[in-house]
Amino acid sequence: MDPLSVYLHVPFCSVKCPYCAFYSQRGTDDEKDAYVRSIEKELRWWDRQYGEKPLIHTLYVGGGTPTCLSVLQWQRLIESLVTHLERCLDTEISIEANPESLSVEHMALWKDWGVTRVSLGIQSLWDDELLWLKRHHTATRALWAVDQLLKYGFNVSGDLMFGLAGQSLKKWHHSLSGLVHSGVSHLSIYQLSIEEGSVWGKMPPSGLQNGYGHYRWSQWYLEEKGFSQYEIASFAKPGCECRHNQAYWFQKNVLPLGPSAWGYNDGVRFWNVRTLAEYVDRISQDKSAVEGKECLDLEKRGREFAVLALRTSQGIDISLFTQRFGDKLFNSILSDLQNVPEDCLLMNGTSLALSRKGMRVANAIWSLII
Ligand code: SF4
Repeated sequence: MDPLSVYLHVPFCSVKCPYCAFYSQRGTDDEKDAYVRSIEKELRWWDRQYGEKPLIHTLYVGGGTPTCLSVLQWQRLIESLVTHLERCLDTEISIEANPESLSVEHMALWKDWGVTRVSLGIQSLWDDELLWLKRHHTATRALWAVDQLLKYGFNVSGDLMFGLAGQSLKKWHHSLSGLVHSGVSHLSIYQLSIEEGSVWGKMPPSGLQNGYGHYRWSQWYLEEKGFSQYEIASFAKPGCECRHNQAYWFQKNVLPLGPSAWGYNDGVRFWNVRTLAEYVDRISQDKSAVEGKECLDLEKRGREFAVLALRTSQGIDISLFTQRFGDKLFNSILSDLQNVPEDCLLMNGTSLALSRKGMRVANAIWSLII
């Protein structure tokens, strides 16, 4: 069996951000303990299915807010992961963290365990913007977290958000350059998107900015500072790309753990039960947490592969694509893209990718393929 990627979802957030509809809850200490115990049982269940400990080449702990778990709960979680998963020599372990709940005790524990990268939900280096987003940290706290993580020797990634109400290009540049100079080796930048089902989904705030200029500026500025854009929202110093995300973009198999986690296995997408209560209940009965699955036919799989690969600067490897999905589908995708302006696409004999300009209008291009 090829090494797997594992996604572990931690379904707790201290407060719900008004734009987010991701499954998470505040969670009591008892609920968090029950969650940690259930993860151990879910891992055991998977070991039985595989007949051995699965070998993993990436593990991503996301959420929610993984730093909502206490150091003691993290200790138990790590024991379970160590017991039930087999690591390669160079397994990448990434953890998402929020500055307000991240402690040096978390960092020390993660370092001992072998965590390689920490992705910090910074969002902005302006306190007024953080307040507007209803985030619970300050710019000073975010920079403290980066500094401490770097001292522990982690690769640090920072998330930033553009398109906020009243966010001028100058303000955006302040956050961007502040993070670049903090010493992070990876940045993920996102346009604020208000999800259906979130608090703001019902009543969006006024004054949101069209983020086109902010994004375009970031593409230029980050390249100047030695961060190459390897995906639509991701910029990294050489060798600091996130391998776990690359596994998603190239349709590698992913094992999901925890409520609401999604997985993928050779053309079958599957997902765990959504809520913590259902999850704990199923696991306590020694049942699978998987609630549903979708088998993708070859065409759907190929089209998704194309869209995911076009997220990346590498783009679609034409010979790999045609071997897996056939010339006919590749030609059909090319014909879907025939009206896309030439300067949005980069096509040579071996690959098809989006240019920087193409990345700025990627949603419109993808919608032609799916
Ligand atoms: S944006 Fe992140 S921290 Fe905020 S509610 Fe959603 S998952 Fe939690």
